[in-house]
Amino acid sequence: MSVTVVGAGLAGCEAAWQLAARGIPVRLVEMKPAKKTPAHVSDDFCELVCSNSLRSDELTNAVGLLKEEMRRLDSLVMSCADETRVPAGGALAVDRAAFAGRVTQRLLAHPLVSLVSREQLEIPEGRVIIATGPLTSDGFTAAIGGLLGSEKFLSFYDAAAPIVAFESIDMDSAYFASRYGKGSADYVNCPMTKEEYLAFRQALCTAEEAHVHGFEDAGVFEGCMPIEVMARRGEDTMRFGPLKPVGLVDPKTGRAPYAVVQLRKDNAAGTLYNIVGFQTHLKFPEQKRVFSMIPALKNAEFARYGVMHRNTYLDAPRLLDRYYRLRTAPRVSFAGQMTGVEGYVESAASGLLAGLETARELQGLPAADFPAETALGALALYVSGGSVGEFQPMNINFGIISPLPYKVKGKRNKNQEISKRALDIIDGYRVGGDMQ
Ligand SMILES: Cc1cc2nc3c(=O)[nH]c(=O)nc-3n(C[C@H](O)[C@H](O)[C@H](O)COP(=O)(O)OP(=O)(O)OC[C@H]3O[C@@H](n4cnc5c(N)ncnc54)[C@H](O)[C@@H]3O)c2cc1C
Repeated sequence: MSVTVVGAGLAGCEAAWQLAARGIPVRLVEMKPAKKTPAHVSDDFCELVCSNSLRSDELTNAVGLLKEEMRRLDSLVMSCADETRVPAGGALAVDRAAFAGRVTQRLLAHPLVSLVSREQLEIPEGRVIIATGPLTSDGFTAAIGGLLGSEKFLSFYDAAAPIVAFESIDMDSAYFASRYGKGSADYVNCPMTKEEYLAFRQALCTAEEAHVHGFEDAGVFEGCMPIEVMARRGEDTMRFGPLKPVGLVDPKTGRAPYAVVQLRKDNAAGTLYNIVGFQTHLKFPEQKRVFSMIPALKNAEFARYGVMHRNTYLDAPRLLDRYYRLRTAPRVSFAGQMTGVEGYVESAASGLLAGLETARELQGLPAADFPAETALGALALYVSGGSVGEFQPMNINFGIISPLPYKVKGKRNKNQEISKRALDIIDGYRVGGDMQ
């Protein structure tokens, strides 16, 4: 029996891979290149629409644990990310074009994966995994609405940060450094004096925003807040957020500046850098005007401006089970951001779990049932039932993973111990041959 996977993004690619790797034929339906969402620009699968960072790669961080669990379960997304990584301190950042190209190539080369290049407009027959993302095309959104009944969609707003050409950065006003000198000095740091910072904040607060239907400040996701919304929250809010100067000593002065804007390498060649934490929905000429007030960016050339989009997801606790299957029609699974998991890694992780469990079901094997002690299991269990009140999108974090039954001193030690326990469980599945 074959499975139809709709959407070749982070979740759909991983789901398709997990199925094919277990001998299940996959029809992968993707509307690119003929039709693209407002945030997608490349013709390849698995496109990172904003940041090129998959966040922390350390086991003291929950997203680091989630990534390691995925690696141990032969994740396609993780393997291609590791192969195309660019230096970014303790984070895993990738060359976005090389990453998407590698995922596309490996999926298309798999003999059990057949690509159907078209926009899906109706719910496919048979076993299906829907992974069309937060910007699912309108026609298909209507079909999903028909399947679910009314009022099953929730939404928030998500913004992307701009990218600038490295050669246009004034390196006389900027310096390479990593926070507290840890690891290699991968970030370009653009220092600001108090006067420059205050003028910049003032300009941000009054700059003209692009009209986004239905958008107001209250509707943003806290983890992806537009920089202008952050500026409006208070004089120092940005200095406690993305413009935090601590540990970023300017070699010219020997001191940490008043505020620092950080830029992260966006491609392996190092010709493009993205402005970290500068998600925005200012009008494009306003982005150029206001961001050029950062001294090192006074002549910056923008390779891409920031954009904002409405991000739609399902009311998952009421609709999905722990395998991301629709409770009322379990032949249909969902994966990715539309299930209410938040972020690239979480989207791919939900695709991994949905693909793996679907394969096991079709092969007559018992469900893997990853427990809440693992990051993979905790995320699925949270999304399918853990939230109370209005369901909000969820990043992986140690708060949703089962606590240790004993006390460990110090947060880092405790997190390390939780990660060790989780990886032992994942390894147990592998050693037991359960993951074939
Ligand atoms: C503007 C914006 C910025 C974001 N920035 C970040 C960020 O910086 N970091 C982060 O971790 N997360 C970010 N996210 C959140 C999220 O992690 C990403 O959206 C992620 O790509 C979600 O993965 P996915 O697989 O669910 O969907 P996607 O990666 O969007 O994949 C969905 C795929 O389905 C296809 N598709 C859609 N409709 C159809 C159809 N009807 N038929 C066939 N194919 C279809 C699309 O073309 C696409 O290829 C952002 C989201 C948005 C909207």
